Amino acid sequence: MKYRVLLYYHYVKIEDPETFAAEHLKFCKDLGLKGRILVAQEGINGTVSGDFEQTERYIEYMNNHPMFKDMPFKIDEANNHAFKKMHCRPRPELVNLSLEEDIDPHEITGDYLTPEEWYEAIQDENTVVLDVRNDYEYDVGHFRGAIKPDVTTFRDTPEWVLKNKELFEGKRVLTYCTGGIRCEKFSGWLKREGIGENIGQLHGGIATYAKNPASQGQLWDGKMYVFDERLTVPINQVNPTIVGKDYYDGTPCERYVNCANPECNAQILCSEENQDKHLGACSMECAEHPRNRYIMKYNLPQDIVEERLESMRNSDFSNLDQVGPRK
Ligand SMILES: [Zn+2]
Repeated sequence: MKYRVLLYYHYVKIEDPETFAAEHLKFCKDLGLKGRILVAQEGINGTVSGDFEQTERYIEYMNNHPMFKDMPFKIDEANNHAFKKMHCRPRPELVNLSLEEDIDPHEITGDYLTPEEWYEAIQDENTVVLDVRNDYEYDVGHFRGAIKPDVTTFRDTPEWVLKNKELFEGKRVLTYCTGGIRCEKFSGWLKREGIGENIGQLHGGIATYAKNPASQGQLWDGKMYVFDERLTVPINQVNPTIVGKDYYDGTPCERYVNCANPECNAQILCSEENQDKHLGACSMECAEHPRNRYIMKYNLPQDIVEERLESMRNSDFSNLDQVGPRK
């Protein structure tokens, strides 16, 4: 494997995110990295890919920078770049929680649990494990027995927790997310609101847990959703299972594809066969879109397209509703 994917964040005061982002973008482009970095007054959050040398130079630069010298990197090996372009953008927040009164993780946050501590703790019956990611992330993989809040996005999770307070009463509450950044704020929020008894978070997130030689990703079911072209990555190295379900027929599946309608782009889990049968689309409307990418990519003749559209009209295809993020 020639490439590496770096995942990292750091809550640190950045006075002028606009200027910082513009300069950092130039630096990353000069290095040859690709990826997505967010910069806010509260810090930095990024995923970038590059070859060994490019990523090594980036880590070295950041670790020599006075503001980021303590910032840990999660490193994945990869066959290719995980992004097509390099973006570095200023944002009001690193994670979109939109609280009326914001949380500073340096002031309040849940206890950090190492992967070893986490593995033990989540097996305790007085513990509630809360997944604070988006629903489409949970659907392709999660910790066994973790609670999935009935929300579409992270931003709606606080309201859901307040409505379901009784689930957490008298319990130890543990939160997890991909790399840990969402938990820093969310566990702080749980603490401030007095939810549950003893708030903890998986330090370094699922990405760190997967690589820990002691835990080896155990008690994780399915794969982990990632925000780059890989879409999912394996976590459980001991006894992997599949929890994702094919969008069209509900059979076990962990293959995410984008809807063929370029204006929709919803992510759906489906087999190659089902993708083909449904012209790569998440809905009838998307299948019939004049710029359907699936039809164009395979140059499908008109009679075949008509035949498939007809069989879609005759199936219960129109009733499907569980669709991932639209980009
Ligand atoms: Zn669609």
